[in-house]
Amino acid sequence: MLVIKSDEIPEEGLTLEWVEERHSLLAYMEGFSRIDFDFEKPLHSEATVLRSGKLILIKGKVETNLRLQCIRCLKEFSYPLSSRFELTLHPLKESSMIKEKELEEGDLESDFFQEGEIHLSEIACEQVFLEIPYQPLCQENCKGLCPRCGSDLNLSLCSCEGERMGTAFSDLQKLKLK
Ligand SMILES: [Zn+2]
Ligand SMILES: [Zn+2]
Repeated sequence: MLVIKSDEIPEEGLTLEWVEERHSLLAYMEGFSRIDFDFEKPLHSEATVLRSGKLILIKGKVETNLRLQCIRCLKEFSYPLSSRFELTLHPLKESSMIKEKELEEGDLESDFFQEGEIHLSEIACEQVFLEIPYQPLCQENCKGLCPRCGSDLNLSLCSCEGERMGTAFSDLQKLKLK
């Protein structure tokens, strides 16, 4: 995991580029969250880190390919992820209670900056989490699975719908015939 010390940042700032492999990413992420995705590629990150008084300014980019599962048809699919971010880190000790709010605002982060150390890998992983769609879909208009027979309606239409209508129709006919 990439960690830098804030007092090692030169006046003109620091530009870094690093790559992390799937196994170390998963090991890290599983430590604090439920994981329902996988990495198809290593995570490629870039960051420019600047010091401004007591604050640390970070501009960066994360890029990888994720493997997600479609919520409708349950098929796994490849999801290219590429996201730019900007963060301002404040030197703070008590971090956990304000974390949620700060993450939403996206400009105040203290968890990644403790005792003069900036946890760049953790920042990159957090960006990946933020970019994962809440309800992943393999395609925008995925038809999903038939609730009755479970067949993938993207591949073929099952006969369930037809059968149901057929039954209702013949019941009606019986009624009329009486
Ligand atoms: Zn789907
Ligand atoms: Zn069906």
